[in-house]
Order: sequence, then structure tokens, then C-alpha cells
Amino acid sequence: MNELARGELLIISGPTAVGKGTVVREVLRIDPEILLSVSATTRSPRPGEVDGVDYHFWSKDAFEAAIAEGQMLEYAVVHGSNYYGTPRAPIEQGLAAGRRILLEIDIQGARQVKRSMPEARLVFIAPPDWETLVARLKGRGTESLEEQERRLATAKTELAAASEFDVVLVNSVVAECANEVVNLFQN
Ligand code: 5GP
Repeated sequence: MNELARGELLIISGPTAVGKGTVVREVLRIDPEILLSVSATTRSPRPGEVDGVDYHFWSKDAFEAAIAEGQMLEYAVVHGSNYYGTPRAPIEQGLAAGRRILLEIDIQGARQVKRSMPEARLVFIAPPDWETLVARLKGRGTESLEEQERRLATAKTELAAASEFDVVLVNSVVAECANEVVNLFQN
């Protein structure tokens, strides 16, 4: 394959509730040509989430079969309970077609992709401060108290990983952060 014809892969990661999803939606609004990878997960859909759009909602058996068959570019057990992962085929097809691709995945997944595709750029979205992160997580109101505590514990370790990333962006103003992401693509 002609390397020059290949697209670009940008990986957005960062602690829970930092507003990655909001930033990603804004990125796609600014530039609809960017391709967003749809992850697979074994967690249940939240109200309003659509299968195949927000996630591919798979059973644990289906997810484990996909792993065994080598169909996942990366996967991780996130927040100690569910599988999340990136189906490999759409990424490889998109890159071969020269597309700019965005992945929004957790830090374990970001590390895995960087190992198998070193040309991928890792972008860490950081909160302005810890209090903002806690307020966002509680304010979202979609998780039980127990789940909130689990996610905050994960967030603490995740914040420490910022230095492993190629770029760190602070999400103070969503539109600004999204513009910075768009500008990270080189073509
Ligand atoms: P949520 O359940 O709130 O949608 O997502 C929980 C976490 O899973 C987030 O930190 C999100 O970045 C991560 N995540 C979503 N999709 C993937 C994926 O495909 N791979 C990995 N490794 N993490 C993912």
C-alpha cells in the first residue's frame, strides 16, 4: 500500500467526564468529513443512545468472539466492568481511503493503538481542574453513586497519564478545544 495515500488517525482520550464526547461532537460539526470510529461495548445503552451510532452494543459472548477472531484494533475493560473496543476493519478501510479518523477511547486503548500504529497521534483532553471534573460527573446524573465513585477513582489514575500523550488540550471552552483538535489533523 502507498503510505502517502494513507489517512490520519487521531486518538482522543482523557479522564471520565472531561467532556470528550462534547468536544468530539463539536469537532464533527466543524468538519463533517472527519470519520468517527463507532466503538463496541458490552454496557447497556443509556436513554437515547442508538445501536450502531453511539456504540455497537454487543453481548459479552459476541465481544469475546470478536477478540478471539482478531477483529478488534484495541479493547479494554473500562471502569472495572464492561468491555469497550474499536472494531479494526472500519479503521483500516478508512485509512486506506485517505480519511481523517477520530477515535474516542480510554487511556488503555490509546496505548494499545499507539503500539500497533505508531503514526497515530494521542490527544489528551484535560479538565481545567479536579473540581470541574467532579462537578461534571455528578451533574451528568447518568450514573449511580457507586458508579460515580468508581469513575472518579479511575479518573485520578487517568489524569496521571497525560505526560504519555503527544498533545494535551485543556477543555475550558468546548468550541476552542474542538478547533484545536481539528487543527491537529495535518491534511
Ligand atoms: P461511557 O460508558 O461513558 O460511554 O464510556 C466509558 C469510557 O469508555 C470512556 O472513557 C470512553 O472513552 C471509553 N471508551 C469508549 N469507547 C472505547 C473504545 O472503543 N475503546 C476503549 N479502550 N475505550 C473506550
